[in-house]
Amino acid sequence: MFSVNTSNSKRGLLITIIAVLLLSGFLFTNAVGFHYLKNSLERSIIESELPRASTEAYSEITFNILPAIVASSMLANDRYIQQWLLSGESDSTELTQYLARIKQNNNALISFLVSEQSQQYYNSEGIKVFESREDPQASWYFDFIEGDETYELNVGANIDTGETPTVFINYKVQHQGKNIGVVGLGLELSVINNILAKYKENYKQNIYFINMNGEIVSRSVGSDLTTATMADIPDFTNTLTGNKESPTSFFEYKNKQGHFLLNLRYIPELNWWILIEQKERTLNKVSNILYANMFIGLATVFVTLIIVSWVVNYFHKKLEILATTDRLTGLHNRQAFEDGATQSLMQSNRTMVPISVLLIDVDRFKDINDQYGHLIGDKALKQIASIITASTRKTDYIARWGGEEFVVLAHNSSLENAKILAEKIRLHIESSTDFAKQITVSIGITQAAEGDLLDDVIGRADIALYKAKEDGRNCIRTKQTSD
Ligand code: GH3
Ligand code: MG
Ligand code: MG
Repeated sequence: MFSVNTSNSKRGLLITIIAVLLLSGFLFTNAVGFHYLKNSLERSIIESELPRASTEAYSEITFNILPAIVASSMLANDRYIQQWLLSGESDSTELTQYLARIKQNNNALISFLVSEQSQQYYNSEGIKVFESREDPQASWYFDFIEGDETYELNVGANIDTGETPTVFINYKVQHQGKNIGVVGLGLELSVINNILAKYKENYKQNIYFINMNGEIVSRSVGSDLTTATMADIPDFTNTLTGNKESPTSFFEYKNKQGHFLLNLRYIPELNWWILIEQKERTLNKVSNILYANMFIGLATVFVTLIIVSWVVNYFHKKLEILATTDRLTGLHNRQAFEDGATQSLMQSNRTMVPISVLLIDVDRFKDINDQYGHLIGDKALKQIASIITASTRKTDYIARWGGEEFVVLAHNSSLENAKILAEKIRLHIESSTDFAKQITVSIGITQAAEGDLLDDVIGRADIALYKAKEDGRNCIRTKQTSD
């Protein structure tokens, strides 16, 4: 029907606008939600998970190593050791036995003593060597004894026990304010490695132990940071060299493997730092939620759009029917007829298939209204519409032209065919007994000529109808261009 394309494109635009609104609203809320969730999960790692892990690791490490530090300290203050050193280091066999007992009691790998006086190194395994400044393996001793710390923890290979990785707890032996030697215990590094492995397995966290020189003493298997890459993390070195009072510090860095969150904490008992590293894995979790949301949201938008377009189409059709149908008779209205007929005329011009138009007017209809009332008049109009419909072909286009006038556009119909059709209609109405009283119609007929517009055709049919009225009504008359 008329302007179908325009209304189609308007409907398309409406549905597109709804789709855009729904999608953008949905994407916006999803993006905000995603951002919020990501931030809150990240905050929970920074503010709670990492500090908690750091505290736990701190307790575990001190729990495992502190007894050995205490034992070292007791050894350093041991009267026997002090006496032995001060009295000329006479019986090293007895010392070895003493050190072996200490080692055993503390579950250590080794225990040892170095005399500042003789620069002799003695250990629980009975080994006795002279510590020379030239020997790189003895450098730890000179570095330590000349330093300010009373004790230190060192990690290195224990040469005396077949290169076992060891944590050495070195303690200065002092007498009257003078360093007279160094004692210590060596613990297997596995004490620390077990803690690292546990954190790796349970919490997917890497742990690094860093000494006072900023060097990594021990770290989880598979961890990436090195002393050099740590120095690249903004503020990291400053924190290591600055004051150690703040309980924990937070850092982050990114590399090809992802975004990492770090928590650094000082362990005063060990004079080490503990660094816990956690990959920001939350993004994956959040992304999964996001994808699930996206899927549900898009499905909802899709279903909504189907419903909206169904509703829009449904009401559009309803409106179209309302706009093109005559309420009383159910026939097409004048507007619809004009559109349909204009198209048919153009088609007929192209195809040369004849079409004719019949203008039907009820005779003296005013009298029926006057005599029987408007309702009966209406009923009569409906009955006339039915008779016309029944008398015509499916391909003919029938409409209520207005008031008590009807119009028929007969396709593939010459003037002669149209006259037959008109006569049929006239007779059917005249002979119908359905009316309150007999009703007749007058019909004006014309065949469309080449190049005719609708006004031309209607104009001629109107003249023919006028003639029929003039000739006494209840008859058909024709009007051609040639007449
Ligand atoms: P003529 O034979 O010259 O056509 O006489 P007529 O009375 O039919 O013509 P006129 O144009 O004087 O009157 C038409 C009447 O049709 C007047 C109007 O009240 C009536 N009419 C028009 N539309 C309707 C309608 O929808 N319902 C009813 N009941 N009457 C209608
Ligand atoms: Mg009339
Ligand atoms: Mg009339």
